[in-house]
Amino acid sequence: MKTTKLCPVQKNEKYVVTIEDLTYEGFGVAKVEGYPIFIENALPGEEVETLVLKVGKQFAFGKVLQFLEKSEHRVDDENMQWIRTGIAPLHHLAYPEQLKFKQSQVENVFTRIAKMPEVSVLPTIGMEEPRAYRNKAQIPVRSLEGKLETGFFRKNSHDLVPLEDYYIQDKEIDRAITVVREIMRKFQVKAYNEQENTGNLRHIIVRRGHYTHQMMIVLVTRTPKLFQHEKMVKEIVAFLPEVTSIIQNIHPERTNVILGKEEKVLYGEPYITDTLFGKVYHISAQSFYQVNTSQTEKLYQTAIEFAKLTPEDVVIDAYCGIGTIGLSLAEKVKQVYGVEMAKSAIRDAKLNAMANEIENISFETGKAEYVMKKWQEEAISVDVVFVDPPRKGLDPHFIEATVEMKPKKLIYISCNPATLARDAKILAEKGYKIEKVQPVDMFPQTAHVETIVLLQRI
Ligand code: SAH
Repeated sequence: MKTTKLCPVQKNEKYVVTIEDLTYEGFGVAKVEGYPIFIENALPGEEVETLVLKVGKQFAFGKVLQFLEKSEHRVDDENMQWIRTGIAPLHHLAYPEQLKFKQSQVENVFTRIAKMPEVSVLPTIGMEEPRAYRNKAQIPVRSLEGKLETGFFRKNSHDLVPLEDYYIQDKEIDRAITVVREIMRKFQVKAYNEQENTGNLRHIIVRRGHYTHQMMIVLVTRTPKLFQHEKMVKEIVAFLPEVTSIIQNIHPERTNVILGKEEKVLYGEPYITDTLFGKVYHISAQSFYQVNTSQTEKLYQTAIEFAKLTPEDVVIDAYCGIGTIGLSLAEKVKQVYGVEMAKSAIRDAKLNAMANEIENISFETGKAEYVMKKWQEEAISVDVVFVDPPRKGLDPHFIEATVEMKPKKLIYISCNPATLARDAKILAEKGYKIEKVQPVDMFPQTAHVETIVLLQRI
């Protein structure tokens, strides 16, 4: 016989609750008879009256009707657009508390996922000015009431919320988006319509070198046509003299992926340059580049210190992007091998090695799991392996090949604590001891957590 268990809360009802926790997305968590309600803009320790908006089997969503008691850690100038779009979902929490929250997220995964409660996690390395740090913006373009608009999607939707102040982006990037938007309106460019896959301009992407101030504008269009683009380009450069690269990326497909495969250079170079530790880097539109430059320097510096490199060491930089980690440490070691899947990134990496006159580094295009296997079969002797994989973490074949190569140290840089804990556990079982776990705040005001782990062969 089927019994229906009554849910302890009902939709459209009000409840007075105390917030006990914060989720990975930055929702406050309250419990009614053990059943969780996720509440936007509510912080641990707060007592709120909530209206339940949505009820599911495992949990509900609610909104705050009134605060009965506020947290002492609340920064009282919350902007609901930044919370609702997910641009800065934690900006209402005082920064030192954000850093503690990130440290405890990493502690939690090591306890819960890796079942290694003995692992101790260092305090998060924060940012002095944790605002206006992003060197890149990817801004969707849509038509609202017949007008081309730029902004950000509401969380879990594709409803555009028009914005001009993005808070965590370089202010010059915010300004550039508004300028380009005005020029697109003037030339009557049609905004993309996602439902019908019609219209033309899908995204405006802006990148700005943190140190060089070189700016790249990418116009992502559905069709190759961009009527009067010569005139548009002239206006963009006239209003934004920092611009050294304008690219049209053509993307006809109906998908959430932002960039298409084909691109045309409309103005200047196909890349911008920036520097890290004084070394110059070419960055193409399609290549990955860390979005928070000053924290990237802290991240790499810490990772390199953990490795305690010597002039005899042979190092692998896996998932190397445009080669930034390998090139930052090449002068300290004998030889570096980089591997990366994206062709454009490897093209940039090779240019970067040349531009910095670094000769003891080589790069291979391919999936890290295959190339690592190949290196293992070639019996390359390796002392230290740096890995910096995407969110899904390391491929089991990659781990297998790495362990076979017996490097003394592994430096694992991760943007996803859950897959990091999973992989660290496997590596621990295969003879690597977790020596240090260091979160670095690459994404202030958001719930994203970046972590460096030093693993040492026993
Ligand atoms: N270490 C670099 C890039 C890190 S981002 C930096 O700090 O800038 C992760 C990189 O891994 C991206 O450039 C992505 O293209 C690449 N990548 C993703 N999956 C991969 C795979 N299976 N093999 C090799 N590279 C991969």
